[in-house]
Amino acid sequence: MRPSILNPLFASLSVLKGIGPKLMQPFARLLEHDPPRVIDLLFHLPYAAIDRRSMPKLSEVVPDTVATLEVKVLQHLPGRGRAPYKIRTEQGMQTLDLVYFHMSADRAEKMFPAGATRYVSGTVTQYNGNWQMTHPDRVGDEKDLAQMLVIEPVYSLTEGLGAGVMRRAAAAAREKIIDLPEWCDRAFIEQQKFVPFAAALRRLHAPEEVNDVTPDSPLRARLAYDELLSHQLALALLRMRIRREQGRKNIGDGRLREKIIAALPFSLTDAQQIALQEITADLSSEHRMLRLLQGDVGSGKTVVALLAAAHVIEAGRQAAIMAPTEILTRQHYERIAPLASTAGIRTALLTGRERGKERDELLEKLAAGEIDLLVGTHALFQEGVEFHDLAFAVVDEQHRFGVHQRLALTEKGEAVDLLVMTATPIPRTLVLTFFGDMDVSELRSKPAGRQPIDTRTVSLGRIEEVVEGIGRSIASGARAYWICPLIEESELVDLAAAEDRFAYLKERFGKAVGLVHGRMKAAEKDAAMERFARGEIQILVSTTVVEVGVDVPEATIMVIEHAERFGLAQLHQLRGRVGRGAEQSTCLLLYRAPLGQAAKRRLSTMRDTEDGFRIAEEDLALRGEGEVLGTRQSGLPGFKIANHEQHGALLEAARKDAALILARDPQLTGERSEALRILLHLFEREDAVRLIEAG
Ligand code: ADP
Ligand code: MG
Repeated sequence: MRPSILNPLFASLSVLKGIGPKLMQPFARLLEHDPPRVIDLLFHLPYAAIDRRSMPKLSEVVPDTVATLEVKVLQHLPGRGRAPYKIRTEQGMQTLDLVYFHMSADRAEKMFPAGATRYVSGTVTQYNGNWQMTHPDRVGDEKDLAQMLVIEPVYSLTEGLGAGVMRRAAAAAREKIIDLPEWCDRAFIEQQKFVPFAAALRRLHAPEEVNDVTPDSPLRARLAYDELLSHQLALALLRMRIRREQGRKNIGDGRLREKIIAALPFSLTDAQQIALQEITADLSSEHRMLRLLQGDVGSGKTVVALLAAAHVIEAGRQAAIMAPTEILTRQHYERIAPLASTAGIRTALLTGRERGKERDELLEKLAAGEIDLLVGTHALFQEGVEFHDLAFAVVDEQHRFGVHQRLALTEKGEAVDLLVMTATPIPRTLVLTFFGDMDVSELRSKPAGRQPIDTRTVSLGRIEEVVEGIGRSIASGARAYWICPLIEESELVDLAAAEDRFAYLKERFGKAVGLVHGRMKAAEKDAAMERFARGEIQILVSTTVVEVGVDVPEATIMVIEHAERFGLAQLHQLRGRVGRGAEQSTCLLLYRAPLGQAAKRRLSTMRDTEDGFRIAEEDLALRGEGEVLGTRQSGLPGFKIANHEQHGALLEAARKDAALILARDPQLTGERSEALRILLHLFEREDAVRLIEAG
């Protein structure tokens, strides 16, 4: 049970003033939680802050800086044709033109009646010797002024959610912040000069200095530490629990593995063989396995998992493989089942869709030991699913599962050995700290015979050529992904929306084009993906909201629009969706010129290498330069606040602290325990709390 002190934070966003039902959807999308809650908004920290406190005379303004100005409205100059709408204002002897694109005369007259005094805040520029402000960020009259002269937090946004609404919602959420008991070690707090959790969170949403919100801000560091500590504590609890039970020896004789290997259309790579040896050594020993199999998308983890499963099946026991989504689960099953059956392994599929008699029969067989290998979604660890003798569980995470799911699965048997697979290449220096002392196997090299992906950067100015080229490719049967970034700023930032792109491509290629985006229902998304997998759709336009990891080996073209807006890790994940079959694949990174230094380096890194580990390291180095894109960076997967470049050192501290806490107080009954439980709930690691309570 969540401590009641946290209830106001976990209430739905709809409790906040000004948030009606219509806003819930965009907030859900932005905050990646449906329904969105107060805490989700509070953890959506501003990525920048604008100092609007300076109110200079117009004659003293430094061009290209943000200022708040008092002006008097002179006259309206509606633009002819495509020209912008201008409102000429004056201050003393000087004039300032307010410039608006897409402004109706009606609205303009209401906002700026002639002769009225207005306060406007925004970036002031000089154009042909005239002062201008294009789309003022804030406009108000006398009574609004006090509110305008502040340091304003800037948040990343999404379609349907403007800066003003976001700011007011965040301010309302801020009122819900409560003081919480301190869970951190006092000496550590003093050494780090941390302010309390609540104080840090309040100040981040109402900055007192522009520097309060920078990536290296001590306020952010405080929250990052809390997040890391909750994670490390949860992992340490899981590990303690798993290690407490002795493992069982699973001695296989190799007969099933031999058959599977003989049936494979390829031979295992050295990396696969080494990983397999490491895993089977664990399985055969009394030591209970808690191992991570890390390998880039397409590195061939599945077959390793299957062979490891075959090992325990040879020993007369059962194995389970769990994947995070319905689609991925089916894909695993479809690839695994035929191979498994050549060795006589009895395999079954269990997702949320299997119901009624079919499901009952399956469960009966499972309990009777007539199924050797069960592939499924989280439906696997639900009640009523009983194994005859589960010895080995594989969790293919794609960073979706939490500690709880991993544990729930291992509790379906006796001393179950656990293998967690992840496709997120994490630099070696961080693996142990991030995954909390698991043993690690790596698949660094890709299977041989895989053709390198031809990666090119193309300016958006040449999009017509790209479309022509794709037209030719799909005419000969190719399949292409077309990724569009999310709109994240104002209308001014000219980003291609997936829907516009879809409409445009549809006009050219008709029914061959499909669309998936984050606002679609899961079933609709699945249906579109399946049509793409079957080849009924040849061009799949999608936003990045759509989960990666889906395997359509026939897809050979990946187009990423506005590639300069993506982080390296994300680009790499996206590109990994092609190059999975025998055909030559192409990845086109469409960028908008001119490119900044860091963006240039990101794109050239993509062109130069496909090695996910190298890319991860380069990513780390590049992001260390402190570039903020404004979009959510995939920092540490599954983390909202902490990221590796800024908080790497804290990660190590959190790991040590968690170990120390549990060494001193394994049941969490001591002095700090109540606060630590609140911490675990705050970051939704209640699965770990259950571990303590069950222990
Ligand atoms: P991952 O799960 O690591 O993303 P998969 O296990 O899905 O990767 O493997 C990607 C593709 O590579 C699959 O089609 C698989 O059959 C193939 N594959 C796996 N191992 C090898 C190998 N040693 N040689 C050639 N192809 C392989
Ligand atoms: Mg996989």
